[in-house]
Amino acid sequence: MGKLLQVAIDGPASAGKSTVAKLVAHKLNYIYCDTGAMYRAVTWAAIHDGIRLDDEKSLRVLLHSINIRFIPSATGQRVFVNKKEVTEEIRMPEISNNVSTVAAQVPVRKSLTDLQQEIANAGGIVMDGRDIGTTVLPDAEIKIFMVASVRERALRRYKENIEKGIQTPLEVLEQEIEERDRKDSTRTISPLSKAADAVQLDTTNLTIEQVVNKIMEIIEKKA
Ligand code: C5P
Repeated sequence: MGKLLQVAIDGPASAGKSTVAKLVAHKLNYIYCDTGAMYRAVTWAAIHDGIRLDDEKSLRVLLHSINIRFIPSATGQRVFVNKKEVTEEIRMPEISNNVSTVAAQVPVRKSLTDLQQEIANAGGIVMDGRDIGTTVLPDAEIKIFMVASVRERALRRYKENIEKGIQTPLEVLEQEIEERDRKDSTRTISPLSKAADAVQLDTTNLTIEQVVNKIMEIIEKKA
């Protein structure tokens, strides 16, 4: 494939974005950037430092004083806060249930959006998140908005949790997912929303492979 493209994949929590984005990046030999992991890392650091999660001033100081590093690759993204690797810890329920509060704060969005745009400048990129097609990469050639029913998304998360030894009832996961979507879609700055030129993909009844193939078809048509 000739020209290097920007592929933006947005959608609500647990819609399978990162699994699919990783595979698409691998097929294209592009960099994969998981922007959710960045918001999770800042949340981890704020909790670790005992900062109130809606305290803009302290978050601004925190963002300046810590070194958050993301090492992107087609197979995943390792996340470090200073010298500590937090790749796994940022997936814990305490982070998932607090990240939307941190992600709604202006200094956090500004700082991470700048960083994401810098990463995307490096060349072919597949980036997943909530505001990639609308705010971070508004000129992306490919924009996908992935959705799935709340039940299906909670079920996927439930299975992942069991593998990690986390036992949260399905009904609780459904409530947590709905609450996170509500917070992400109603915040003032860069809320979760479908870009006007994004293709919506409902993955409720599709396998990962089917979703990847659909996205590859869209990319090939465009390229
Ligand atoms: O994608 P993931 O579920 O890991 O994202 C965690 C949280 O980070 C989201 O619920 C949202 O609050 C925030 N986020 C965001 N903008 C992005 C990516 C994630 O606000 N581009």
